[in-house]
Amino acid sequence: MTTRTEKYIEIPATAPGTSRIIKVVEYGDPQARPKVYLQAAIHADEVPGILVLHYLQQLLDEADAQGKIEGHVVLVPMANPLGTDQRIFGNMIGRYSFSDGVNFNRGHAELADKVGDVIADKLTDNAAANTQLIRAALTAAAHELKANDEVAFLKRTLMEHAIDADICLDLHCDSEAILHMYTLDQSWDKASDLNAQLGCEAAFLADLSGGNPFDESISTPWIALAKRFADFPIEEPPLAATIEYRGQADVYSELAIDDAQRLFAYLQRANVISGEPGELPEAKCEATPLAGVEHVRSPAAGVLVHHKQVGDQVTSGDVVASLLDPYSPFGDGMQAITTQVTGKVYSRTNVRMVGPGQVVFGVTGSEIIERQLGETLLGD
Ligand SMILES: [Zn+2]
Repeated sequence: MTTRTEKYIEIPATAPGTSRIIKVVEYGDPQARPKVYLQAAIHADEVPGILVLHYLQQLLDEADAQGKIEGHVVLVPMANPLGTDQRIFGNMIGRYSFSDGVNFNRGHAELADKVGDVIADKLTDNAAANTQLIRAALTAAAHELKANDEVAFLKRTLMEHAIDADICLDLHCDSEAILHMYTLDQSWDKASDLNAQLGCEAAFLADLSGGNPFDESISTPWIALAKRFADFPIEEPPLAATIEYRGQADVYSELAIDDAQRLFAYLQRANVISGEPGELPEAKCEATPLAGVEHVRSPAAGVLVHHKQVGDQVTSGDVVASLLDPYSPFGDGMQAITTQVTGKVYSRTNVRMVGPGQVVFGVTGSEIIERQLGETLLGD
């Protein structure tokens, strides 16, 4: 007998006569642990993860038929039907909401203060009981979030399904990129296996990246509560991570099937699915600080000519691209764009006519880079 369930949650309509839904697929006993939550494409124009979750569901269906689902799996295969419907002259704009201009993966709720007030008098010396108490309070706080518009409703719905998870993986992609991931410093002990199993080629760590992306809204309450109630035993935060499945155009079955198999093996390793995951592959990268990433920016407007591929190793001072100003009155109008750090090119823009200040490359670095006032580590 299958444990798979599907539900379709209706988002309150913004205009009469319109409707949108969020699809949620679940496997296993809803009370079982570990609970893993996966969602794809909260940035609606970041499609590769949708295909990965498609193939993961086939593997989960097979495992389910064999009675191998030990934990609870919650999947939102396409997390942002609002962004998917945002088109201008044929182009989808899936990163920011047309209604409020906010990045769909920023500004997720911070529940720590509210939950802290609720549990303040109820914590004990029993760590397991505290975990249950905190999970219940987080779930209740997520349910109570106000949702006066469709974006808030979407964000609340996703959070309601993820907030008590042991593992929360948010599947994104970059413009053009190698496979990479983001998580918290505190989570690296748990995340290093994930990094190796998925075959990530870069992994970024921060104690807080800023702007409240979805994954951090799931993990950081636990850190804040442990700090606020230092006299009580409070569990390590759940493993919440953002996985960047390469570039926007990297949507291929061969890649996605392999990615899904790797995710499935990780779920076996994490005891969500029974069965032998095989030997853990050797990690392809060490983690580096998110604060060490250089976002190489274009100094002016012009035609961008890349000289480096994603995955290339670069040294401080290397020319990574050229910028052509076809209106330049003197010389050939070409200027070099260089990197300051030594590391790996993990992403680059797929735009070829760029504006001043536009990020054109992302390079990993092991040293912390000074940021401009107010600049968050993720950018926007
Ligand atoms: Zn994204």
